Amino acid sequence: MSTSSHMYPMSSGHDQHSYIHNSSYQKAAISSAVEKTRRCIFEKLDLQLSSDFGTFRIADFGCSIGPNTFHVAQSIIDTVKSKRLEESTENSLVPLEFQVFFNDQPTNDFNTLFRTQPLSPEREYFSVGVPGSFYGRVLPRNSIHIGHTSYTTHWLSKVPDNVCDKKSMAWNKNYIQCNNLLEEVTKAYKVQFIKDMEIFLDARAEELVPGGLMIVIGECLPDGVSLYETWQGYVMDTIGDCLMDMAKS
Ligand code: SAH
Repeated sequence: MSTSSHMYPMSSGHDQHSYIHNSSYQKAAISSAVEKTRRCIFEKLDLQLSSDFGTFRIADFGCSIGPNTFHVAQSIIDTVKSKRLEESTENSLVPLEFQVFFNDQPTNDFNTLFRTQPLSPEREYFSVGVPGSFYGRVLPRNSIHIGHTSYTTHWLSKVPDNVCDKKSMAWNKNYIQCNNLLEEVTKAYKVQFIKDMEIFLDARAEELVPGGLMIVIGECLPDGVSLYETWQGYVMDTIGDCLMDMAKS
């Protein structure tokens, strides 16, 4: 099922199917949130607390293989640098170094990620790969100043068991997603999402330094709008129908 993150990394490598060439929609969403992210960093990040040892640490949870994650890292660095310049305290005389932790599932194509990262001096940070599920701790306590995640938390840790159980009220019949047509199915996915988000946020709360920031970007629906009414939901249901036909024949 497509909503479980367990074993499904994004397409690897460089060819036409690679995530590198199929992530402009996500890039557009990240770009549309840049100004808000910038404001948030300016207003909320406590630089005094955050960068006292001269190394500023950023983590991108569910980074995939780029290029979006590189834009995110650079944009956060640019904002932190301008905030530092603007505040220009005694602290800002000490040159700040940046370290970026790239997290994803161990099956992610980390080779392509690091092979395609910007070269120095354009790349203003030291890179670290962090394989592991973000539904749990992946970094030491109090180690990160800004955490970021985009287009990730819809990947639940697993498909709720009852959704696949033909005898359950929450059986998802012939659908491949939670499209909100079946109330019990929606409920089952909600329960799983709440559990997963709690684990996700608890882990990040431990990893972030006090005064740090966590930026979460993803696709949401306004209250009262069901997924089957949207074009994204419609497309997935159509693909689901095709897959069902293929499986039957
Ligand atoms: N953040 C990037 C990639 C989004 S694609 C962007 O905005 O373009 C979603 C990514 O989340 C995939 O690479 C997938 O492997 C990763 N992912 C999903 N579940 C995960 C988990 N439990 N732990 C770590 N990464 C996860």
